[in-house]
Amino acid sequence: MPIHQSQTDGVAVLKIDNPPVNALSARSGLAGELIGALGAALQDEAVRALVLAGEGKFFSAGADITDFGDDAQKDVEVVRDLMAVIDGAGKPVVAAIHGIAYGGGLELALSCHARICKAGTKLGLPEVKLGLLPGGGGTQRMPRLVGVPLAIELMTSGRDVNTQEALKIGLVDAMVDGDPVEAAIEKARSLVGAKLPRVSERPAVKDAAAMEAARAKAAKGGATAMAQAAIIDCVEAACDLPFAEGLRFEADAFNRLMLSEPSRGLRHAFLLERKVGKLPGLPQGRDTVRRIAIIGSGTMGIGIAIASLNAGYAVVLVDKNAEACARAAKNIDKTIRGLAEKGRIAGDVADARLANLSTSTELADTAEADLFIEAVFEDLEVKRSVFREIEKVARPDAILATNTSTLDVDRIAEVVATPERVIGMHFFSPANIMRLLEIIRADKTAPRVLADVLTVSRKLGKVGVVSGICDGFIGNRIFEEYLRQAYFLLEEGALPSQVDGAMERWGFAMGPLKVMDLAGQDIGWSIRKRRTVEQPDRPYSKIPDKVCELGRFGQKTGAGFYLYPEGSRSAVPDPEIEKMIVDYSKEIGLARREISDGEIVERCLFAMINEGARILEEKIAARPLDIDAVWLNGYGFSGARGGPMFYADRVGLDKVLAGIERYAKGYQGWVWQPSALLVELVRNGRSFSDLNG
Ligand code: NAD
Repeated sequence: MPIHQSQTDGVAVLKIDNPPVNALSARSGLAGELIGALGAALQDEAVRALVLAGEGKFFSAGADITDFGDDAQKDVEVVRDLMAVIDGAGKPVVAAIHGIAYGGGLELALSCHARICKAGTKLGLPEVKLGLLPGGGGTQRMPRLVGVPLAIELMTSGRDVNTQEALKIGLVDAMVDGDPVEAAIEKARSLVGAKLPRVSERPAVKDAAAMEAARAKAAKGGATAMAQAAIIDCVEAACDLPFAEGLRFEADAFNRLMLSEPSRGLRHAFLLERKVGKLPGLPQGRDTVRRIAIIGSGTMGIGIAIASLNAGYAVVLVDKNAEACARAAKNIDKTIRGLAEKGRIAGDVADARLANLSTSTELADTAEADLFIEAVFEDLEVKRSVFREIEKVARPDAILATNTSTLDVDRIAEVVATPERVIGMHFFSPANIMRLLEIIRADKTAPRVLADVLTVSRKLGKVGVVSGICDGFIGNRIFEEYLRQAYFLLEEGALPSQVDGAMERWGFAMGPLKVMDLAGQDIGWSIRKRRTVEQPDRPYSKIPDKVCELGRFGQKTGAGFYLYPEGSRSAVPDPEIEKMIVDYSKEIGLARREISDGEIVERCLFAMINEGARILEEKIAARPLDIDAVWLNGYGFSGARGGPMFYADRVGLDKVLAGIERYAKGYQGWVWQPSALLVELVRNGRSFSDLNG
């Protein structure tokens, strides 16, 4: 039974018991059962008041997202009925909140006649993060309870509210250190016979200025812009309409958002995180790593060390260069103390994290480590010699990882006697910030080692995606095809600002040419030089090489595809580069043509999708969702678009294939050989999501 009932002196206590988070789900029958239990208690003459609470660690973390889909309306209706029963009850109903009250859980509490909260509870309406709005009366009750400006701010950001703030703004009536149920029983008793303080009967006072400012902000809201705008409309409706009509307005807006593309994408992006680290057939990962040795204290070593310390690991950072060690220690100290200064962590927590760090120039000092992460120069021979040295000091059961971004992990693993414990951990820069971690499964990597590294990845707060070995792994391999199109588009008639602008308007955080200016054009240049030798039959545009030949490596040299005057990070289009591009088209005999934003977006994305399909075909990625996870968390792909493979399904794979076949007949058509998997899926009327399992 998901509802536990008890009675104390005429007060019925109903506790939700739906582990692990007391999700307020309709499909599991919980919402319906709660309505039944409430109805029975309201009719029971021995019951004078009611308390609603949660079993276990939380009050309720909200709706069950797996309930959401094209046919969610009926399920959400049941939850709305539940709120209506509570709000309209003739006997006082008081919420006793502890742990977490998010989304539908908080809306449930808002429909009660009073709220008692245990100190340390987190409250919030985070629906906006899924491109939705609080659809259980939240948009109507919140402005009535905390005022219009704050209600808008809380619902359009989806941020957490702690208990102190909740008390201050009137979101809860009282905060207690002990058992909130006891205090709620007291409160419920005190309300017996009184006029019940229903939130729905309070006025919502319009604030035109706040509304206008919020609309302007929402318009820039990126992936959640549509949901933010709808929330503001609902708050306005709360001010203008009677409560019941406001609820209908909210329900309509909620249903529209549920079917919207941004919410579909954001829900996919949210749900895939639960699946991404769970590869079929892997053993359960163990949590046995305590001490991590990081070899190489450069940019990546520092970032990985900070991420590891923040996750509670002990870290020994080794660099053969003593100055690099000292610089790293200083840098790490500054970053972690900075977290305390910004109030993100307590001062003693920062002290404890820093006490977990040691640095050394001697590999011998790493003998205790459970996991080694090598982050020295990107040179196969240097890495192989470091691995030989590591093997001499490491315990036989320690895991040996390399952070290589381009090298073949098998070639590194082959120099040690126990290659089954060698794996790739490809962090992204800055490694303490970027959520993506590509976990590279080498030929001989043991499943147990992979499973344990996935556990480390989770503890580091990363989205760990398993990739097989190939040049560029999942992310950079797809990025190369994306860039190839971006460069060809320049030859054919587009200018950098047009390519970047089109991709940014479509949803990318940054266009591809600006990304290369940020990363450093010299990195791409050296990869292209290697490619000319390795893949002479796969030509690419010479335009980026010409930019590099001018000594323009991007932001770090103040100029790349764009100008960055005086160290600025904002890109200024440069007529010199534009002229160079136009001249180059002439030089290779191409008549430049008008290129639409639609073509730019389609070509860049279809090239990515086609390469993604090849990556699946070759089993480099296990599922399409793994590719989506890489692009969402490491390459600025908009959550509202759900990732390249999810987007391909939304377009329709038949349309994607038709586009690829059309481009194959055009300029540089050799690139557009369609993936066999894509062809097969289209032939069988299947989609990428069918492969997600
Ligand atoms: P870096 O040049 O900033 O740092 C490398 C450090 O390794 C230097 O401090 C150097 O003194 C040290 N080192 C070299 N040989 C050593 C040895 N034998 N023993 C101990 N220390 C040694 O390089 P980085 O940018 O931090 O990159 C490190 C690795 O991470 C490379 O394999 C790179 O491809 C990979 N990577 C880099 C990025 C990035 O964006 N920079 C992203 C992902 C992966």
